[in-house]
Amino acid sequence: MNSFTSPLDSSELRELGSVVAKYAQERASRHADDEIEYRRADFEDMAKLGLSGMSLPEKFGGTDFDALSIATALFEISRAEMGPAIYLSVHLMVCKLISSWIEDETHLALLQDMAAGKKLGAFALTEASAGSDASALKTSAISQGDAYLLNGEKIYITSSGQADVYLVFARTSDEGKRGISAFIVPATSEGISFGAKEGKMGCEGSPIASVLFENCRVPQSAMLGKAGDGYKIALSGLNGGRVNIAAAACGVSAHALELATSYAQERKQFGKPISDFQGLQFMLADMAIRLRASIELTRNAAALLDHGTSSNGPASIAKCFATDSAMAITTDAVQIFGGAGYLRDYPVEGLMRDAKMLQIVEGTNQIQRLVISRELLK
Ligand SMILES: Cc1cc2nc3c(=O)[nH]c(=O)nc-3n(C[C@H](O)[C@H](O)[C@H](O)COP(=O)(O)OP(=O)(O)OC[C@H]3O[C@@H](n4cnc5c(N)ncnc54)[C@H](O)[C@@H]3O)c2cc1C
Repeated sequence: MNSFTSPLDSSELRELGSVVAKYAQERASRHADDEIEYRRADFEDMAKLGLSGMSLPEKFGGTDFDALSIATALFEISRAEMGPAIYLSVHLMVCKLISSWIEDETHLALLQDMAAGKKLGAFALTEASAGSDASALKTSAISQGDAYLLNGEKIYITSSGQADVYLVFARTSDEGKRGISAFIVPATSEGISFGAKEGKMGCEGSPIASVLFENCRVPQSAMLGKAGDGYKIALSGLNGGRVNIAAAACGVSAHALELATSYAQERKQFGKPISDFQGLQFMLADMAIRLRASIELTRNAAALLDHGTSSNGPASIAKCFATDSAMAITTDAVQIFGGAGYLRDYPVEGLMRDAKMLQIVEGTNQIQRLVISRELLK
């Protein structure tokens, strides 16, 4: 019921799912629920399994997994604990964008380090006045001699302060979307600094913070693609990122359904397990229906990406449905736990707080609905 892979999948895909599940469950069991935090060692452990290089071709040291395999791995990581699935998903998107847009072997060493888990990547697009409308960004990149000088502030950046390399979107001219360029900025660059970790509702294992650029100096070779390619570069990563978030949503939903099912069988009221009451049986059935539909939409969107679809619809539909379902499923899990569900001592309220984030990141679900309706109406 809760498996991401199907019996029809290749044995390699099912093997990947079970290897990642074993690792992720073992890691999660090492930490109490109130000890969830970002740990660099987790990223290094995931790298030992080849997960940090999943989106990179072998020539860059990666394992060159297709979208369905990546989604399978992220599902299993998130089923145990969502945080590592989120920052790994961002890292994989940054790897993919850099490797797809470099024109020669520049940054080869960087990509090899990212594949090996020696360097963690972050994606720095959002600003105070540029969230859903990313094209409104103001961070500037002025060409000066053999360098660019970056000035501005990014907010809500996953892994800010922890990551070693930032894919930064900045304005090289005033020409709207065409004035945005992308830069590969190491954490050690002169003029870059990081805000304090934000206190957020959930997903403690994946920290966010601001990134500040004050005359941050990077060489001309730090530009990815050409001047003005930045917006296209950012958009080109979105479908993959959305499928990955959908997979993480399926993972947290599967976790919540597992916990709710066992609790319903153990907890007794009116002299019998609460799972004997049809009202709860129907809730569990509805949770299972939403989860199965989320998994199938996510698998379908991943498979279409692997077949080179140019449509944005399937990834947006999967992201929207799977993350709205994760919110509904985790909320129902809290309900099935009753008063215990509302307590920090039990794990389900944390899953509900984690799930909320997924409706906001990689384009809010309102933006996904815009993308879907645009495809319908064009
Ligand atoms: C935990 C977390 C991690 C994040 N990680 C990163 C990261 O690594 N890198 C990065 O660059 N950003 C990151 N973000 C930022 C995230 O991408 C933005 O928060 C998101 O895109 C929404 O932007 P906003 O917060 O400015 O909301 P706004 O754009 O201000 O939206 C506010 C509300 O208005 C709605 N809305 C906006 N425009 C429309 C419209 N046209 N039609 C209908 N409704 C609309 C939105 O759906 C939302 O409900 C992260 C955010 C969080 C919370």
